[in-house]
Amino acid sequence: MIVITIAGLLAACQPGDDNNENDIIRAARANVDALDRPTANFRHTRVSDVEYDLQIDVHGSTDWFSGEVTIRFDLNDSSADLTIDFSGGTVHRVRVNEQSIVAIYNGYFLTVPASALQSGANAISIEFEHSYDEDGTGLHRFVDPEDGLTYLYTYLWPYYANRLFPLFDQPNLKATISLTVRAPGDWTVVSTGTATPEPSADGSALWRFTPTPKMSSYVFSLHAGPYKIWKDDADGIPIRLMARRSLAEFVAVDEWLETTRRGLAFYGEYFDIPYPFGKYDQLIVPDFNIGAMENIGAVTFAERFVQRQQSDRTQRERRTSVILHEMAHMWFGNLVTHDWWNGLWLNESFATQMSMLASVATTEFTDTWHRFLISNKRAAYARDSRVTTHPIEMPVNSTADFFTIFDAITYQKGSSTLKQLAHYVGEDNYRRGVSSYLKEHSYGTTVLEDFIGHQEKSAGVDLDAWSEEWLYKPGFNTLSVSAACENGGLKSLTVLQSAPSEHPYLRRHQIDIALYDLDENGRLLPAELFSLEVQGAETSIESIDGRPCPTMINPNHDDWAYARIALDDRTAEVLETQLRNIPEPLTRSVFLAALQDGALAGDMPLAEYVEYAMRLAEHENNIRIQQQISSSIVTTIELMQRLRPETDDSLATLLPRVETWSLERTSSAMTDDQRQNWFNTFAGVVSTETGLERVTALLNGTAAIKGLPISPDIRWTLLLILSRNGAADIETLLATESASDVSDFGAKSLLAANAALPNSASKAKWLAELRNPEILTGLSRQRAVMGGLFPPNQTALQFELLDQVLDALPDLSETSDPYFMSSYSSVLLTPMCLPESGALMQKMLDEHADQLNSTALRFLREALQADMECLALRSRQ
Ligand SMILES: [Zn+2]
Repeated sequence: MIVITIAGLLAACQPGDDNNENDIIRAARANVDALDRPTANFRHTRVSDVEYDLQIDVHGSTDWFSGEVTIRFDLNDSSADLTIDFSGGTVHRVRVNEQSIVAIYNGYFLTVPASALQSGANAISIEFEHSYDEDGTGLHRFVDPEDGLTYLYTYLWPYYANRLFPLFDQPNLKATISLTVRAPGDWTVVSTGTATPEPSADGSALWRFTPTPKMSSYVFSLHAGPYKIWKDDADGIPIRLMARRSLAEFVAVDEWLETTRRGLAFYGEYFDIPYPFGKYDQLIVPDFNIGAMENIGAVTFAERFVQRQQSDRTQRERRTSVILHEMAHMWFGNLVTHDWWNGLWLNESFATQMSMLASVATTEFTDTWHRFLISNKRAAYARDSRVTTHPIEMPVNSTADFFTIFDAITYQKGSSTLKQLAHYVGEDNYRRGVSSYLKEHSYGTTVLEDFIGHQEKSAGVDLDAWSEEWLYKPGFNTLSVSAACENGGLKSLTVLQSAPSEHPYLRRHQIDIALYDLDENGRLLPAELFSLEVQGAETSIESIDGRPCPTMINPNHDDWAYARIALDDRTAEVLETQLRNIPEPLTRSVFLAALQDGALAGDMPLAEYVEYAMRLAEHENNIRIQQQISSSIVTTIELMQRLRPETDDSLATLLPRVETWSLERTSSAMTDDQRQNWFNTFAGVVSTETGLERVTALLNGTAAIKGLPISPDIRWTLLLILSRNGAADIETLLATESASDVSDFGAKSLLAANAALPNSASKAKWLAELRNPEILTGLSRQRAVMGGLFPPNQTALQFELLDQVLDALPDLSETSDPYFMSSYSSVLLTPMCLPESGALMQKMLDEHADQLNSTALRFLREALQADMECLALRSRQ
């Protein structure tokens, strides 16, 4: 049997039927692999009370799976055709209300003619087949290179459930799904409901799952394979954790399950609603496209949350935060779901915000808002500064436009804004508003106004102006405090707010301002706090007259504001020398970030900033700030490499010093986390001859760092460094390593290392493969290659191949999946800092914009902007 996965107008019909022109009824809906909002809306007005009876057979050794679905629903208007989403499959037989019919199948959706439908109850049965997916969507199949075992899992968000079976694949047509699966007898099958396997004589087993509650299709799931399973119980809720067998020994099982138990208890209490879905499974799966996915009661996680050595604090904290993020979705997102994809931001931002609260309340990471500042908020400011930024709440016309909104605005800016909202309405009011919202809309779908309405009611405030300013306007404000002092006394304090000219909107901010004085031990301490609502360009603080003039002012104490902080001159001067005398780590981070932003904007030579950061590290004991310093050093040096070191000898002087310094800090580190952090600094910058000799020595065991075992994963990090720097015997080293590490991680690391070799011809070949894959199939392998291709020390090579990268964009826009497209255009178009590279990108925009899809356009415009900024910085250095 041939499975058709390419587009084309194919008729699905009874076996033996001949198609003729008259049978083909053209659908008004566009023939694309996407669902547009008008089609979804129209369907939503007609269809209700949907139930799916779904049987799927995965037990054969074929490249495809087969199934049959019966869709029962009410139709209030049978005068028009009805479309059913099903991408890339084969349809064998369609029966509508017991009658076999000729339905049109174009490779993307089926069209059932109006003549076959009736008002009221309808039942449509479809027999189908579909290939297993290789790109991490639909029903993905993975064969473990270590032991040959096969694993399946689904990834259906946002619009991939229709790669599993034919359905109405939109969030607001919630339905119950009764699933039956036939699978090999030694597999475990996992889905939303529960089932006990019934063995058959042919060695297979039948799994009849309990019907699901009413749910949206994108959070349905079907995972199957010989997964290793750990079982436990969370106050009566059965919980399970699963992973590939060959990965099982590295999974931090106890910690994972403990986080799960605590999280479930926390959320049940916070929302005042018991966990709604009976059981809670979590699967760690290979080739996963994103971090994790909140399938109801059967969450999937990428394997990047498992390390083949002891995980450091950052890795453990990220894992904890993701476990808690997905769990929050069970209530917010799964029990109550957005009506359409414009609601994505609220769903994601809320889960992110909740994971912070749950981390603080239930885990060792009680200072996790500090991480939020360093990673989440800074990502949001960066995204919000791009030409392609957008309001948090915005229309989404089609599922094809998904990657224009799946970004740091929807996750990080949105969650920063919700943090600000909770501070604005009061945290207790906020929690009550969330709880009443979830209770009123359980098992239903909502729009933004429903959420805001519950917040207004709970807090007794009007949020119209707040919503308008925060949710419907892009960009961010700059806040600063102006203090007037006279004879050592403070006369007045004014908060100044400004906005960039391209987004000239001022907002209301609920902020805390801290005035700092030096104490007798030379520490800078917050002596006075003002909590206030800032509105408009100037907000004065009353009743401060007579107080001594403060040494320093922090306009964003506790980081409640989503705004850039501009330091007053006096504060900036004090910080140059006194930053380390501030006892609160969060405040040190706020100021360190402000200094780094200044350097990246050209306020200070980059080399000088790196020197400053190294000096700062000598006195810094907080691991988060050490990490912040480390990553800021690596980022700054990468930028210096892109800025053409041949015209600037400061890098040549700086690099060997940073290499030696970071390696010394690694050796003298007091804790494992610190050791890992300074080693990451070394690995991030090393590229001098002496540095590479040290890398080789670590790899072949002639040198060692006490307390830092060179695990298989670290070995690949070292090999990647040697590859991108073109070490002499690198090909032999790679061959030897890949022979001894046959894991999936090893295979993908080998791809990245090969792609990173500084060789124009081999890079050109990889690019051709990406454009037209013959050997390089599977998105996760393609991504590994993309990640290796253009390291920051190879911008000259990158420029040589820029034409080839750009030329492929129109074709890829037409043929590739959004996940591929977003990786391709974001990873391969990093700044080259040349007038010529910007010109080539501009030419592509001028001449071919109409051939680029929204994802390619977004990343191309961002790349051009980054290139221009980089050039501007170069001229200022
Ligand atoms: Zn999420």
